[in-house]
Amino acid sequence: MYKCGSYPVTDKTAISGGIFSANILCPDIAAMAKPGQFAHIKLEGFTLRRPISICGIDRVNGTIRIVFEVRGAGTAKLSHINTGDNLDLLAPLGNGFTLPELAENERAIFVGGGIGVPPLLAAAAVYREQATAILGFRSYDKIILANDFRSIGAEVFTCTDDGSVGMKGQVTVQLKDLLQKGGVGRVFACGPLAMLTTVSQITESFGVPTEVSLEERMGCGVGACAVCACKANKDGKAFMARVCKDGPVFGVKNGEFVALDKEGV
Ligand SMILES: Cc1cc2nc3c(=O)[nH]c(=O)nc-3n(C[C@H](O)[C@H](O)[C@H](O)COP(=O)(O)OP(=O)(O)OC[C@H]3O[C@@H](n4cnc5c(N)ncnc54)[C@H](O)[C@@H]3O)c2cc1C
Repeated sequence: MYKCGSYPVTDKTAISGGIFSANILCPDIAAMAKPGQFAHIKLEGFTLRRPISICGIDRVNGTIRIVFEVRGAGTAKLSHINTGDNLDLLAPLGNGFTLPELAENERAIFVGGGIGVPPLLAAAAVYREQATAILGFRSYDKIILANDFRSIGAEVFTCTDDGSVGMKGQVTVQLKDLLQKGGVGRVFACGPLAMLTTVSQITESFGVPTEVSLEERMGCGVGACAVCACKANKDGKAFMARVCKDGPVFGVKNGEFVALDKEGV
C-alpha cells in the first residue's frame, strides 16, 4: 500500500555542500513507512519522478525526512523547495529492511557510502545502542549524518578517501576489523555497487546475514515499467528483479542479491 498526494515541507536545511535535508508533513505516509523504503517525488516540469530514500520516520509528528544530493536537473529543482511548499509524493514504495530482533549481546552494523547513508539512519534508529555505523565519504566536507547516528545512540566510525577525518581508506577495511571481533548479528549496507559487492563478499565469508539497498535508474517506481530491472535470485533461480518493487533492499546469498520476500537471509 502506498499513498499519492501533495504534502507540505515543514523545514529544509543545507547539511553539506550540495546536500539538503527536508522534513515533510505526511501523517498517512509516516504511519506506514518502514526504514529502507523510498518516496518517489514529482517535480514541476519533469515527467519522471525522482526516487529518494526515507531517512527518518516520526510517527508522533506525522513527518518523514529526506536527505538528498544535487546530482542533475531534478534534484537541483528539489533543492529549491522551501518550508511551506508542497511536494507531490508517491510513498512509501519498495521493500524496506527486515530489521529482525537481535540477541542482547549482538550488534547490527550499518555500512554507508556517500549519499547511500540516509536510508541507514532510519534503520539504525530501530537498534539504537546496538547499532554501529561505518560511514564512508570522499572528504571531510562531504560528511553527513554522523552526528545523527551518534544522537540515536549508535557507535560511529568515519572513513574518508583522503584521510581528512577518521580512518583513511575504505569502509570495508573497518567492517572486516569489526567482524573479526565477533558479536555481529546482521549487516545493512547502502552505497555504490562496488562497495556493496565487497561488503557482501566479506560478510558472507564471516557467515553474517546481510541486507543491501540497491540504486537503479527508475521509471514508474511501482513495478510496472521494468526500467530498474537488475539481475537477482529468487527461490534459487536467476530472475530480473525490479529494484523499485522487489527491492530496493535485497538479501545476499552465494554472491548474489536475493529477493527478500521469499528467501530471507
Ligand atoms: C531507491 C533509491 C533511493 C535513492 N535515495 C536517494 C537519497 O536518499 N538521496 C539522494 O540524494 N539520492 C537518492 N537516490 C538517487 C536519486 O534518485 C538520483 O540522484 C536522482 O534521481 C537524480 O535525478 P536528477 O534529475 O537530479 O539527475 P539526472 O541524472 O538528470 O536524472 C535523469 C534521470 O535519471 C534518473 N536517475 C539519475 N540518477 C539516478 C540514480 N542514481 N538512481 C536512480 N535514478 C537515477 C532520474 O530519476 C531521472 O529519471 C536514490 C535512488 C534510488 C533508486
